[in-house]
Amino acid sequence: MATKSEKKQLVYPLLPLRGLLVFPTMVLHFDVGREKSIKALEKCAMTSNQLLLSSQEDGQVDDPTEEDLFHIGTLAKVKQMMKLPNGTIRVLVEGIARARIHRFTKTDEWFEVEVAVQEEQDFSKSNAEYQALMRSVLQQFEQYLKLSKKVDQEAYSSVVDISDPSHFADAVAAHLPLKIREKQQLLEELDVMKRLEKLLQILSDEREILELERNIHQRVRKQMERTQKEYYLREQMKAIQKELGDRDSRSAEVEELRQQLEQKEMPLLVKEKVEKELERLERIPQASAEGTVVRTYLDWLLALPWIETAQQRVDLRRAEKVLNEEHYGLEKIKERILEFLAVQRLSGKMTGPIICLAGPPGVGKTSLARSIATALKRPFVRASLGGVRDEAEIRGHRRTYIGAMPGRIIQGMKSAGVKNPVFLLDEIDKMANDFRGDPSSALLEVLDPEQNQTFSDHYIEIPFDLSDVMFITTANNVYQIPGPLRDRMEIIQLSGYTELEKLNIVKQHLLPRQKEKHALKADQMRISEDVLLMLIRHYTREAGVRQLERVVAAVCRKVARRIASGEKKRITVQTKTIEDFLGPPIYRYGAQEEEDQIGVVNGLAWTETGGDLLSVEVSVVPGKGKLVLTGHLGDVMRESAQTAFSYVRSRAGQFGLQHDFYENVDLHVHVPEGAIPKDGPSAGITMATCLISALTGRRVRRDVAMTGEITLRGRVLPIGGLREKSLAAHRAGIRHVIHPLDNVKDLRDIPQVVRDEMEFHAVKHMDEVVALAFVEPFPLEEFEGFYPTDKMPDILRNTFSGEGAHQ
Ligand code: ADP
Repeated sequence: MATKSEKKQLVYPLLPLRGLLVFPTMVLHFDVGREKSIKALEKCAMTSNQLLLSSQEDGQVDDPTEEDLFHIGTLAKVKQMMKLPNGTIRVLVEGIARARIHRFTKTDEWFEVEVAVQEEQDFSKSNAEYQALMRSVLQQFEQYLKLSKKVDQEAYSSVVDISDPSHFADAVAAHLPLKIREKQQLLEELDVMKRLEKLLQILSDEREILELERNIHQRVRKQMERTQKEYYLREQMKAIQKELGDRDSRSAEVEELRQQLEQKEMPLLVKEKVEKELERLERIPQASAEGTVVRTYLDWLLALPWIETAQQRVDLRRAEKVLNEEHYGLEKIKERILEFLAVQRLSGKMTGPIICLAGPPGVGKTSLARSIATALKRPFVRASLGGVRDEAEIRGHRRTYIGAMPGRIIQGMKSAGVKNPVFLLDEIDKMANDFRGDPSSALLEVLDPEQNQTFSDHYIEIPFDLSDVMFITTANNVYQIPGPLRDRMEIIQLSGYTELEKLNIVKQHLLPRQKEKHALKADQMRISEDVLLMLIRHYTREAGVRQLERVVAAVCRKVARRIASGEKKRITVQTKTIEDFLGPPIYRYGAQEEEDQIGVVNGLAWTETGGDLLSVEVSVVPGKGKLVLTGHLGDVMRESAQTAFSYVRSRAGQFGLQHDFYENVDLHVHVPEGAIPKDGPSAGITMATCLISALTGRRVRRDVAMTGEITLRGRVLPIGGLREKSLAAHRAGIRHVIHPLDNVKDLRDIPQVVRDEMEFHAVKHMDEVVALAFVEPFPLEEFEGFYPTDKMPDILRNTFSGEGAHQ
């Protein structure tokens, strides 16, 4: 450890320093201006050229006294002195050694002090501890230099080679931007080891501060860079938008929506929601996809009729007039609709069940609903539910899904524009349900007056009031409407039209409408009743008039083309012209077959599209008693065929067959087109008749059609849809219908024209069918063998075997 020794005691002039401290070995220059100091310099130049440099504790003091000066300073040699034009003197000094002031010998004109100069320690044999400490200081100093921008970067090289620890410490300290008090402390520390340690401490503190400073700087810079970048980009975008002419289109958009909001009447709840979303939209940058999502949602909220209402009053007279004007016939239907409207009028709101117009296609369900809307002067909207299997189609998707949309109900309400339109839900029976949820339960909520005041759509989120909407539904098959829904509805059944009705509809409605659509004046196209009948009979076969309307439209098109091309001025459409226009007839009218046949029987089926003729065929081939079934047979129909077969087997003797006849033959039953499964059993008697015919080789009358379920013992059970089936038979030109006795009550639903032109035969047992259907009846006696005479039905005695019935 170095020890200090203060040997020489000498007197020197003193130069007080302000804001500056000179370490021994340090060379530097500064300007001197104070009078007292200049005098000290002059004195010094006259003597040894040495003086004591002592720092002032407070640099602000102009005329320091003894107390203002530190009592340890640096003895320095003045190497150069230069008088500057302004009277001050620039000096170049070199620190020599530390010196302690013992006393002031002169203080008036200049300071003169008696000092003890600190002798430097000898470090030539300095130990490793110094070396280590110096190395640490050097290391810290190097890092400090790297971080610091204030210190001259050359400083490192100026200290690195110094081997004297005291000089080294002073040289490093001289480079540090420390406060005078701190520098003075280092100067006063005479113990070199301690001085080095202090220096190390200062350096590491400084370095830490610098590092912190640097981090802060970096953070600030990054932040600045980001905001600057954003600002720059935004400005650039603005400039581009300006160039493109849509400057600030987001705020323009928001502004426009705000205006819409102001003009629109809506419940407070909705208004608040719109305002909130508008605020959100404002904050979303123009190019963001989220903006579109919010915008679309806002458009929906602003477009929906929350308050807007069309006239509520129900004008019954007008309703009746419109219904009659737009639809031929349908008296009962119109009456029921008017009754329904009357109740609405009395109650003043939409209560009670929903109307369901049920029936085959093309019978006017949709157009009736449209007329109701016209009659009530309310907008008409329509949503088809056919094939809807997802609840979301009714209720919408949540907005979190990409491309989410409201459901069909809300979509319909938007296009209606008022909250009380006539809303047609088409094909409600064609709705299916699967794993995506049950659409019918969502529909229940729509149709239930208790719940539909606050109908919730997943997309819109805010409850929407549907209680003023007049819902009307349509269906082809009411049995396929889910039970709970059916309960809510008042079903109005429409049936197919007769030929006469169709003729009137086409004359009074379809033809004038199509002519107008094709811009044909009344006298430009004439078409006689015969020709219209031909269209009905040979170009369509349907319960309704949809196909007929299409055919009429096709004829109008052809005529319009001929007139437009200048070929003719007016055209009278004749039977011949029709073939030119539409090609040869598509359907044959009259009896299905040319001749009475063996193993072919006309059955009657009921399908969703109305009644239909169902031709059953059986052929007998050698085999082992198998019953082969082909064609569009549903399961129920197959069972029905089995039952018919078993019946025939049990009655083999009656038909003159061996009791084991089936052991050598296979029977092949074919049904070209199947009816809907529900109606399967109604082909029972048809199949039995066909089997008997094929097995006995007797012909079946081609002008007879039949429908009825059969039991194993041959009883004939009731069936459904007799009205539609009879109309189909009538359309096909058949004149005799065999039907179960229990269906007699349905006969009164059949239009009078049809009843007048056809004969209906009610039967209870298969034997009666057998007696009616065959061209050559089975001998009566054979039946008598099985039936007691008194139980035999009258009809068996009174067959149409003999005169008249058949040609
Ligand atoms: P649905 O909805 O029952 O399938 P539409 O209502 O679409 O049938 O009817 C098909 C076409 O037939 C429509 O142009 C309709 O105006 C017309 N139509 C049906 N029945 C009548 C009728 N009784 N009087 C006048 N036009 C009718």
